[in-house]
Amino acid sequence: MKKPKVLVTRQVANEAISLLKTVADVEVWVQDEPIPRELLLEKVEQADAILTMLTERIDEELLSRAKQLRIVANMAVGYDNIDLAACKKRDIWVTNTPEVLTEATADLAFALLMATGRRLTEANRFLMNGEWTSWSPSLMAGQNVYGATLGIIGMGRIGEAVARRAKGFGMRILYHNRSRKQQAEAETGAQQATLEALLRESDYVLLLTPLTAETRLLMGEQEFSWMKPTSVFINVSRGGTVDEAALYQALVKKQIWAAGLDVFQQEPVPQDHPLISLPNVVALPHIGSATEQTRGEMARLAAANIVAVLEGQRPLTAL
Ligand code: NAP
Repeated sequence: MKKPKVLVTRQVANEAISLLKTVADVEVWVQDEPIPRELLLEKVEQADAILTMLTERIDEELLSRAKQLRIVANMAVGYDNIDLAACKKRDIWVTNTPEVLTEATADLAFALLMATGRRLTEANRFLMNGEWTSWSPSLMAGQNVYGATLGIIGMGRIGEAVARRAKGFGMRILYHNRSRKQQAEAETGAQQATLEALLRESDYVLLLTPLTAETRLLMGEQEFSWMKPTSVFINVSRGGTVDEAALYQALVKKQIWAAGLDVFQQEPVPQDHPLISLPNVVALPHIGSATEQTRGEMARLAAANIVAVLEGQRPLTAL
């Protein structure tokens, strides 16, 4: 019998590819750059399954080209790159990779929070540029982390994992969600707050919602104006949740103290983007879940979802 065809849009862990090969013919796009859109549209025509990254847009145009596609297995927990309704209309499964990246992303979020509050990248540039000619009491003075108030917007899996870390740093934790998280409250002492109260009271504001119609540009001019001049804003969600022009103005006008950004509206962020010209911005190239172990687990889970569907079963992490 003819084997089904799987397209994998980037080089991922060998183990995941081996797993896919047990049930399918597998084609892997091995280059570092994303697969060109035209080629993806062409290849999806023959694919029974695709293992995708956040760099691939799965929309009407692509799905209308697919003749036998049964599953889109996204190697990310976020799925704002996928038109879920369009997939559902065609009975195509969509899966993501929750849980396996939670702790690694929480580590990165907390590392970015500390790096921004304590000016680590700026201090490192200062030293490397040969500017460290004398010590002074105000040299690279940052903001306290221990004992500060952390406001988490989007207290989900990753938000709760960050809250557990913050508890170890003696932080007071506020969160803003649409629903109440009683277990997280009991575990970390976190308190639910309105968005405005959270922004007014927090020393660190961490954005961790998914990107949806509701959260698009959630942080804009008014929201930044509610923050304190000593507060630090951290975004590890998606670039689309933040009005970047408003963030830039808030930083330049010193309405807020600094920002740590793992995600941008346009990725890779252009080198001439105003935000990355500011000394009080710590910018990272979307590396929230980027550890060798976690990327391996994400690939294995995405592959397992495909194998399940190709064998006529329900995938493990269906959306
Ligand atoms: P999750 O468990 O679904 O948590 C998301 C939380 O956001 C939920 O608790 C949800 O609570 C809250 N939320 C959703 N819409 C909201 C709204 N309109 N206002 C306020 N809160 C809202 O997801 P997760 O696994 O923690 O991942 C969160 C996001 O992080 C992902 O969607 C992804 O975009 C991003 N992420 C980024 C990286 C990276 O590399 N930077 C890595 C992993 C994940 P309610 O439903 O109660 O509102």
